[in-house]
Amino acid sequence: MALAQAPEAPEDPLTRDVEALWTRIATLRNVDTLNRPSAVRAPEEARRAVAEIRAATWLDSARLEARGRAWSDLGLGTERSPERWLRAVAEDLGGAAWEPGAGRLLVDPETLTESDYTADGEETAAIALLMATGVRPDEPVLAHLMVHRLQGEDLEGAETTDAFLARHAAREGEATLVATLLLLESIGVEVGEVDLDPTAMLDGRLAPSGASSPLEIRMLDFVHTDGYLWARRRYLAAGWKPWPAALTTGAILSDAATSVPADVAVPAPPTGWEATDVDRLGAWGVYLWIAATTGKDSLALLSSEGWEGGRLERLERAGGPGATRWTTRWVTAERAEQFRYAIERVLVARFPSAVSSGEAPGWRRRAAGDRLAAWERRDRTVTLWIGPPEATAGFVPDPPSEAVESGGDL
Ligand SMILES: [Zn+2]
Repeated sequence: MALAQAPEAPEDPLTRDVEALWTRIATLRNVDTLNRPSAVRAPEEARRAVAEIRAATWLDSARLEARGRAWSDLGLGTERSPERWLRAVAEDLGGAAWEPGAGRLLVDPETLTESDYTADGEETAAIALLMATGVRPDEPVLAHLMVHRLQGEDLEGAETTDAFLARHAAREGEATLVATLLLLESIGVEVGEVDLDPTAMLDGRLAPSGASSPLEIRMLDFVHTDGYLWARRRYLAAGWKPWPAALTTGAILSDAATSVPADVAVPAPPTGWEATDVDRLGAWGVYLWIAATTGKDSLALLSSEGWEGGRLERLERAGGPGATRWTTRWVTAERAEQFRYAIERVLVARFPSAVSSGEAPGWRRRAAGDRLAAWERRDRTVTLWIGPPEATAGFVPDPPSEAVESGGDL
């Protein structure tokens, strides 16, 4: 008589489930189904480690640190903000992650499990969704990640904050659109018929998980929510025919905005100084800066309109503190003047006790806490210099000859 076999542990059907979903996603996204993805279980720490490695490939660390010093001069978060927010983008959604080099999905032990099919009280919402749509609640998350696999990891030319935000908004927007189509198709609704906020659906499964400061939350919201709205417009206009590239944040927000930023010419740094980072904040970066520093979203909206190009330079030299020069160009002199006014409002909000230390038409200088700032508008160009007083003294230009050196309040 044969011995009874020991009962085997139930097999995790993850690979089978992921393959079945991949076929549906390939159909929805209108691509062939070659190169099926593989999937393994991986805990959150492993997924975070992958995200950290991925973020580190996006911008060289010396440049990222220099960018942090420029953002800190502006009051846009802290010196660590650029690095932290790149990592938050890389972390993407919770529950699963894409491992680009290995070509496989890392799926949390709690994601896409058999518990979707069993009623144990807590899962009734999952079962209700499954019964109504045939879609398991974690499937849209995996669908989103599968679209990233189709997109590949192309970030060439996205070294500036403006281009990086725009590129990621387009990527995340497309991924979330496909995840949303998966749900809507199952209940027979067209995406053009409904206004949805996908990040609020499915208990927030399609919302980014990595933000830890108000600034990061706003940046990720731009990438995921505005990116979705952009992708939805593109899809409704042209289906899956190749979409025009969005190279600026302005182009994500409005089809009428400039997608190719204007070149902004700037004087060479003074002798002994070098640019350790050149960034571009873009229309949405201008909006974020004004909104985050003044708390006034309407001022930010008004003053970021008409942005045409920009250059945020971190300038440094051996043996002394560095400083920041930010040059922006606007479609008209009136839009430039509005931005110049907004700079004043930002500096007053940041340094309420600061005093003006000189002014002329279109030109101002302000000693502001531990920073000295000067700004001027020339026709459609606005330049802001800001840094510690001992640094800005080295490169802030002298006031125009008609300037009044003053110690009064602005
Ligand atoms: Zn994503």
